[in-house]
Amino acid sequence: MNRRKFLKQSSLVTTGLAVSPTLFAQFNGYDPDLPKSDFSGKVLIIGAGAAGLYAGYTLQRGGYDFEILEASDRIGGRMGKHEGFADHTIDLGAQWLHGKRSIAADLARKNGFKFKKDKSDMYFLFHGNLTDQTPSDVTSIFRDSFAKDISFADYAKKQGYGDDYQYIVQATAGSYGADADKISVKWTSIEEDEWSSGNTDYKFRESYWDVINKGIAQPIGDKIRLNTAVDSIDYSGEKIQVEDTSGKTYTADKVIITVPITILQSAEIAFNPVLPEQKVAAFKKIGMGPGMKVFLKFSEHFYRGNTIGGKVCAAYADDKEGKDGTDNVLLAFAMGDQAKSLSKLGSDEAIAKALLAELDEIYDGRASASFLDKLVIDYTNMPFIKGAYSYSAIGIGNARSVAAKDIDQKLYFAGEAMNVRGHHQTVHGALETGFDKVVKILEGN
Ligand SMILES: Cc1cc2nc3c(=O)[nH]c(=O)nc-3n(C[C@H](O)[C@H](O)[C@H](O)COP(=O)(O)OP(=O)(O)OC[C@H]3O[C@@H](n4cnc5c(N)ncnc54)[C@H](O)[C@@H]3O)c2cc1C
Repeated sequence: MNRRKFLKQSSLVTTGLAVSPTLFAQFNGYDPDLPKSDFSGKVLIIGAGAAGLYAGYTLQRGGYDFEILEASDRIGGRMGKHEGFADHTIDLGAQWLHGKRSIAADLARKNGFKFKKDKSDMYFLFHGNLTDQTPSDVTSIFRDSFAKDISFADYAKKQGYGDDYQYIVQATAGSYGADADKISVKWTSIEEDEWSSGNTDYKFRESYWDVINKGIAQPIGDKIRLNTAVDSIDYSGEKIQVEDTSGKTYTADKVIITVPITILQSAEIAFNPVLPEQKVAAFKKIGMGPGMKVFLKFSEHFYRGNTIGGKVCAAYADDKEGKDGTDNVLLAFAMGDQAKSLSKLGSDEAIAKALLAELDEIYDGRASASFLDKLVIDYTNMPFIKGAYSYSAIGIGNARSVAAKDIDQKLYFAGEAMNVRGHHQTVHGALETGFDKVVKILEGN
């Protein structure tokens, strides 16, 4: 969801103002200078999402030896696009460019991709009616670094926002990929204070994936092995041995692991020696819950901007906003338990039916009457993703730093969940970690 929209309304938003000039030099722009290095070994990168691709692209730029092993049959991970459902391109995963001071924004500019400010309005479902006034501004209360470590749900209740506000609070939590009763106000705020990319959401006329694909994936296409799921990493010797599920082994001097945090949490990759207990515990403290995007196509544009506060799905967005084309597509952005419940319905038809029933209630039956088609993308059921994106769960503390720590100058942990600059959950955050780990390797750290 376009979460900066929620934050923008907060009087406490300070992100983007306190930017360190050094960080800016390093991360505001793709292709920053690489350190001089005498590194001459081979790097294996596990995962071909944004982080893995940018790590590979950066190594290629410096003339270093690397290979990317990707478990699925496609590159992109939580990014992708779909043509043909509507007369505009559908972004399967990441869609919004969050702020324009980032590697991703710079990459887009340099490759001629246009992005536009998301101007859609927010309408809130409150006591059965749609209103464009945030009811008592409940969405903007969750910036409090000094709060106790309690959830959005409990924090809202303590501030006097009762059950009436439950699904509006859920939409706010959902924009962070979380359930309102699992995400921490305190840690989310502390991590948000690090955010430095800007507070406006933008959309690409084409797709976000095109930007990454053209800019960094295509130039390294011949270095990526698809259908190669890594299941063990032995870093006990001088060289690291990586094995895939077919038993094939690969040898490297350094390994950058970019798989989603869910894959590390479920210990699908065996490490020898086993990872330190503290690190394994840190993986488990990072939140990542179910997530689903459902695109609904209609013959009529009966809905208003973004519709917030549904019981079946807390956030619907006008997918046409920022795109060329005339087709009416509404995106249902379901996170946490709402995504889980929809997923349990067992078929795309049943999922669409549940959403249409909710929309019919809000819009007097006009949803079913003008419904044309659906496209369901359930990230939870994807075997190598297993969820939406990482969030700051209650009790997370410094878990991201511990999880992201390199081991023995051999194993380097990247990917959105490992971003300790406040840019986790995002594409540009994932890109930063890919770059960051390559620099560490080249600097001999
Ligand atoms: C529904 C949804 C909407 C989003 N919207 C936005 C948005 O609007 N804006 C934004 O900035 N971000 C958004 N995000 C987040 C963004 O997509 C991610 O933060 C980013 O793409 C993550 O990149 P990554 O490289 O860290 O991980 P991934 O893209 O998940 O890549 C990891 C790769 O590792 C592979 N892998 C897993 N296990 C193995 C294994 N054993 N061996 C080999 N490979 C393996 C996976 O197949 C995958 O390709 C969204 C995400 C979702 C799910």
